[in-house]
Parts: sequence; C-alpha cells; structure tokens
Amino acid sequence: MDRALISSLESYVNDLSRLPHVGRKNAFKIIYYLLLNAPDSFESLTDLLETIRKELMFCKECSGFTRQSDICSICDDKQRHTGRYCIVENPFDIIKMEKARVFEGLYWVLHGKLNPLEGVLPQHIRIEPFVEKVRKGAVQEVVFAFSWDMESEATIRYIVEKVREVGKDIQLYRLSMGIPVGTEIQVIDELSIKNSFQNLYEIR
Ligand SMILES: [Zn+2]
Repeated sequence: MDRALISSLESYVNDLSRLPHVGRKNAFKIIYYLLLNAPDSFESLTDLLETIRKELMFCKECSGFTRQSDICSICDDKQRHTGRYCIVENPFDIIKMEKARVFEGLYWVLHGKLNPLEGVLPQHIRIEPFVEKVRKGAVQEVVFAFSWDMESEATIRYIVEKVREVGKDIQLYRLSMGIPVGTEIQVIDELSIKNSFQNLYEIR
C-alpha cells in the first residue's frame, strides 16, 4: 500500500470521526461497510444526505425543524398560545412533545445545555434572544422540558435568573420528577411526557 493511500485513509477516518458518537473505530467500520456494499450503500447514503440538506432547516423563530420555509408550522400556527414557551435542548425534543400532544404554546430550542466543565457557556447556546423576547414582554409562562441532570440544572438556573432580571410576573415551570434522573427527553415514552406535563413543577 502506497503512502498516499494510507494518508488518504487516515484523513477519511479523521473526517468521519468528527461526527458525534462516531469516533475512529466506527469511522473505520463505516468506510469498510460502504466499500463492501458498494455501490448501493454509497448511493443511498448520498441521496439521504442530499435530501436532509435540501429539505431540512432550522426555523428562524424557534430554531426547531422546518421544511424549506423560514418559519415552522408551529410558530406559524395562529391557534397556539403565543405567550407560553416550552424551552427544549434540541429540535428532536419538540417532536417528542408534539407527539405527546401536551403543549399548546410555542417552543424555544437552545441547541445544547450549559456545561462549563466541557466549555459550553451561555454564549454557545440560544439564551440571549430568548431573554430579549422576555424583555419585550412577549413571554408570560415558561416550561423547561429538560431531563434531570447537572447540565439541565445549571441551564435552568441560569435562564431563570436572567428571565427574572428582565421580566415581571413570569411563571416558570419544569417537568415533574416523573422524568427519570439522567434520562434524555428523546428516549422517554409519550405517556410519561404527558404525565409530567400534567404535573408541572413550579420554579420559585
Ligand atoms: Zn418555529
């Protein structure tokens, strides 16, 4: 095997291993699988990536998923309660809430949770535009749909403090303890989501 090929392979593995949860070992496996099952595996993967790139984007308002339009169907829905916000960590959590049919307000995606030890600071997630919304008086109620873990606690505490600095009489809630400690929202069944929404825990 020539040196150029070895260095190309190294760079393919490095590039693939930058994807979340892939790592070098799985990057090798992916390349191996694609080559073993070529050309079909390449074509279907390329098609899939192209479809995702073309069809999915983030809503300019809530930053949840939308299809080829700036504003998603939830933000665009005039029937929804505009002063009530459910703050979630990522756009997949919105899908979870919508499937459970428990929330009639609007959503706000942070794209992460605070984790100072890992270098995730307030400026790295979408907090400031939400605080601005509160400052303008557009928010009356906030529900934090977060799991129960250290990062969620730090994130909620930070946002609550910021919101209270600029907003008056805002009611703040989080999902009840029915959500198992340390479990991500995405893996919780819809009935548990429903139950925890019916027993919101007020943040005082
Ligand atoms: Zn939206």
